[in-house]
Parts: sequence; structure tokens; C-alpha cells
Amino acid sequence: MRSRQRMFAAVMRLLLKCLRLGRRRRFKLVRQVERLWHYGHLCLRSLLYNSFTNGDVVLDSLFEPVYWLVDHVTRWFGVVFVALVIGLTSSIVAIVYICLLPLILQTYTPAWICWHLAYGHWNLIMIVFHYYMAITTSPGHPPQAKNDLTGVSICRKCIAPKPARTHHCSICNRCVLKMDHHCPWLNNCVGHYNHRYFFSFCFFMTMGCIYCSISGWEMFRDAYAAIERMKLLEKERLQVAANQTYYQTPPPTFSFRQRAFHKSVVYLWVLCSSVALALGALTLWHAALITRGETSIERHINRKERQRLQKKGKVFRNPYSYGSWDNWKVFLGVDVPRHWLTRVLLPSPHLPHGTGLSWDLPPCVMEQRAPLLAI
Ligand SMILES: [Zn+2]
Ligand SMILES: [Zn+2]
Repeated sequence: MRSRQRMFAAVMRLLLKCLRLGRRRRFKLVRQVERLWHYGHLCLRSLLYNSFTNGDVVLDSLFEPVYWLVDHVTRWFGVVFVALVIGLTSSIVAIVYICLLPLILQTYTPAWICWHLAYGHWNLIMIVFHYYMAITTSPGHPPQAKNDLTGVSICRKCIAPKPARTHHCSICNRCVLKMDHHCPWLNNCVGHYNHRYFFSFCFFMTMGCIYCSISGWEMFRDAYAAIERMKLLEKERLQVAANQTYYQTPPPTFSFRQRAFHKSVVYLWVLCSSVALALGALTLWHAALITRGETSIERHINRKERQRLQKKGKVFRNPYSYGSWDNWKVFLGVDVPRHWLTRVLLPSPHLPHGTGLSWDLPPCVMEQRAPLLAI
């Protein structure tokens, strides 16, 4: 009996010992897991730590796959958009030459014929020249040799100095001097060296569309009425054919040539008036920006800066604006009065003022301000 009690006590002691040991081990494991968690957390934080990290960066990182998709789609579709612009413009020019010009030559007075021939061809040359220059001219990029640059900030994507007014284009994947925006219709960025070509193309294209819409209004009305009449006659013809007892197709009321002519005129007018409205609004928006000496990107930056300074009771002044009229002269490269003809009203491949790396006062503005400074 006594030996049994002793054995029971020994077993209980062993069991208690095992339990204590297990508890110790379990705590040790928890402590180890805890230590590993803290170590991993610290590693991750030290790897991701950046003094520039803020809410915007986190949001940008989260939306990075969406940006990637949009950028790639825009890059691929750029060629399609350019082909579309060339195709649609060519179709309008072809309709004018094949359908409208013979009619104008036959029915209009010599004075009107001269006006249409002169204006139409001048406008067409301006559109083709500025579109070609806008898609083939590089907008300008900061130089690869980074030592000679007085950068005001660092591009996070290129890890290189970014001169004033320069921004990174995620579609071109490089920094662009005085970047305005990436235009899918040009498949190119709009920046320092091709901003004037882009605006002139928009302006002359709008002018051309307005010209076609106004001068083709009467023809459009006639063509539209003819198409309606055509549809009605076609319906009647089919009804008559269905009631006839003999199997003979009645002759068509309108020839193929007449149908093609009327449909082409309607297509021309609808396309031109739609483009005139849409592109006209865009051109006006860009004209307002040029008047203020801003790019599309600077418009947002300056608005934020204006609001920030307004709260402090200060007034924001755009350092790249020289006054409305001078902004236009600098933008178009008009140094002397004859440049309005040679550089604005005629195709001109002249370069813009400056290199796009630094923004000194342009010579034409400096000349005007010199007498004021002397006083
Ligand atoms: Zn960059
Ligand atoms: Zn771009």
C-alpha cells in the first residue's frame, strides 16, 4: 500500500514537472515569435522609410497598376490616334476636292472662287505643317550630363535634377522641358520645343472646321433634304415593286453618284462642326493658359500656391508671366512686327526663346522694360 502511494506521488511529481516545462517552452516560443515579428517589422520600416513619404505617395503606389495600364494603352493607341487624325483629315480634303470644288468652280462668281481657293489652301498648308512639326519635333528633355544643371528638384522616376517647369511624363517615361501634357492625338509630349506647333495646329484645325461648316451649310441642308427624299422614294419604290405582278426590278430613283455626293456632304458637315466645337473649346482653354503664361500642369500648381498664399494674406505672382500681350509674343516668337506675318501667318520652323533649362527674361520683353528700369 505504501509503495503504491510512493509510486503515485512520483508520477504526480513527474507530471507537474512536465507541465511546468511545457509552460516554460510555450512562453519561450511566444517570446521568440514576438521578437521575430518586431525584427521583421523594423526591417520593413527601415527599408521603406523615406522622409518624402506622405499620403500622396502611398495613394500613388496603390494606384500604380491603374496608371501602368492607362500609360501602356495610351502608348499603344497613340499610333492609332495619329492614323485617325490623318485619315479623317484626308477624307475631308478628298470630299472637298472631288465633290465640292467642281461645284464651286461651276456656280460661284470669280471673286468667291478666288477666296475659297486662297483661304482653303492656306488653311490646309498651315494644318499639315503644324501637325507634322508637332508630331516630329521633340518637346525637349534635360541633358544626360547631370553636372551642369541647376536643378530645383529631383525627379523621383529618373533620379536626376529637374529644371524649373520640367515634369516627368509617365507615358514617355522621361522628363520633359516645360511640359504641358502628353497628347495621344500627336503620340508625343507637348513641351518647350513643340508647344507652339501644337497650339497652332489646334487653332488652324478649328479655323478650317469652322470654315467648312459655314461655307458648307447650304449644301448640307440640300444634301440632308435629298437624303430624306431618297429614303421616301426608296420606300415607295419597294411598295410598288411588291404590288407588281411581273418580276422586274423598277429603275433606281437616285444614281450611285448622287447618293455618294449627298452622303459625303452630310458626313463632311457633321464631322467638321463636331470637331470645331470640341477642338474650339480646347483651343480656347489653351489660349487662356498662354495669356496667363502657364502650362496645363502649372495651372493646377499655381492655383494651389495662390490659395496657400491667400490664406497667409499674400499675393501669388507667376514668375513666368510677362503680361498678357508679351506672353503671346514670347510664345509665338514675335520679336519685331514683321514676325506676325512671317512667323504666325506663314509656316515657320523658328525655335522658341531659351533652352527650357533656365528662364531668363526673353529679349523682346527685356527691350521694352529697359527704359522703365533706366528711370
Ligand atoms: Zn523624370
Ligand atoms: Zn509624354
